[in-house]
Amino acid sequence: MAVFTFDNTYARLPERFHARLPPTPVAAPRLVRVNEPLAALLGVDPAALAGPEGVAMLAGNALPDGAEPIAQAYAGHQFGNFVPQLGDGRAILLGEVVGRDGVRRDIQLKGSGPTPFSRRGDGRAALGPVLREYIVSEAMFALGIPTTRSLAAVTTGEPVYRETPLPGAVLTRVALSHLRVGTFQYFAARQDVDGIRILADYAIARHYPEAAGAAHPHRALLGHVIAAQARLVAHWMLVGFIHGVMNTDNCTISGETIDYGPCAFMDTYDPKTVFSSIDAYGRYAYANQPGIVHWNLTRLAETLLPLLAEQPEPAIEIAKEELARFAPAFEAAWHGGLRRKLGFLEAREEDLALAEQLLQRMQEGGADFTLTFRALVGAAAGPEGDAAARALFSAPDAYDTWAASWRARLAQEPASAEERRAAMQATNPAIIARNHQVEAAIAAAVEREDLGPFEALLDAVSRPFESRTGLEGYTLPPQPEERVLQTFCGT
Ligand code: AMP
Ligand code: MG
Ligand code: MG
Repeated sequence: MAVFTFDNTYARLPERFHARLPPTPVAAPRLVRVNEPLAALLGVDPAALAGPEGVAMLAGNALPDGAEPIAQAYAGHQFGNFVPQLGDGRAILLGEVVGRDGVRRDIQLKGSGPTPFSRRGDGRAALGPVLREYIVSEAMFALGIPTTRSLAAVTTGEPVYRETPLPGAVLTRVALSHLRVGTFQYFAARQDVDGIRILADYAIARHYPEAAGAAHPHRALLGHVIAAQARLVAHWMLVGFIHGVMNTDNCTISGETIDYGPCAFMDTYDPKTVFSSIDAYGRYAYANQPGIVHWNLTRLAETLLPLLAEQPEPAIEIAKEELARFAPAFEAAWHGGLRRKLGFLEAREEDLALAEQLLQRMQEGGADFTLTFRALVGAAAGPEGDAAARALFSAPDAYDTWAASWRARLAQEPASAEERRAAMQATNPAIIARNHQVEAAIAAAVEREDLGPFEALLDAVSRPFESRTGLEGYTLPPQPEERVLQTFCGT
């Protein structure tokens, strides 16, 4: 029986959408990990993937039956500069699989060798960034945040040369699709209006079929992407996630988080936090993320202008009206999320001010973002539960005065203490994939071939809302000597 039951659609699109080529074989594939629950969802036998034939496929040494390998063409703005041709320079889309849930997903090998889009790159990935993407994408999934996922990781038995030789690896990435804002920009840059139309219709059929029945399907597509991306970035903000490389080629049409390079979760709350070593000016700092998503969506709207122009209203007005929906959609998701984090099940006028005061005091007091909100779960019951939260602030008085107004607001809520506790616990994670833990897991794997810390961290982040005994270490921010100030671009 075939390992994957492929049902490919993107490979059917015109030849200028992609380059056809197989992955490049590697010397000595070895399995690092298979994601069993995800395999089951995809209707794939995890044992078949973990066996020698499966590992050969995951490394690119054998093509699974039914695969139609392609590298996808796309363009993109990188740190604000437009590059008319990027494309899959080190990834190969094997094909699409319709899962047990009826959802179609891409199966892509990342780190699978050079393609016509490789430019100066070697087409490969190092083990460290592959493990980072595996851990963080699965952590995001467990947090309930739309994301690409990791089906498997294998090592190649070949070095990749960065500053030093590093062990090479291939990640099998699973995504609702790999369509990006940059995919639209690729055709727009070539003034290929037919290409844009084919792509837009494909995106509608695959991601927003309800748009097909709208009065203006392409306008509806733009609206759906704007709504999905507004929700996504609000989700990121609510867990302190910093993507790190929000280029338009890393901004999906599906609304999934994609491309875990120099990403990280923030420890101490500071809206200016940047981790990426290549983000010298802080373009992609935590607090800038909603504005950057809006900027990226504006680039998407520009590519759609020729299609929007087929309607009576001026295309530019349509685009502006749709883009104007971003801010309210983001705010609704962000404010709603903040309310839930504070334990408010009803909406009141003063809620946002309370949330902002808390964030301000967290910043001034050097409080840990994740721990503060988690500590509020215990504090919601009454001042006797305040110790954990106040200890996070350099001046605990700042917390105390805030907590007094927070409790006055909580007192107006009809929910029982137990209902509130359960709701707060399900929205304020105890465990995030903290950067120092991710780095330690990577170091153990790369330097000592010890996958124990990787496995243990993966287990910890996969149930983020539980307080499990024995896992307390994963809830803690880094000690001063463990702090990771920069995360290097995932290559
Ligand atoms: P990213 O910054 O990861 O979104 O990647 C931007 C572009 O660089 C994409 O076109 C990638 O395919 C390409 N790229 C990144 N790393 C490599 C590599 N090692 N070899 C070839 N292309 C790469
Ligand atoms: Mg990318
Ligand atoms: Mg990348």
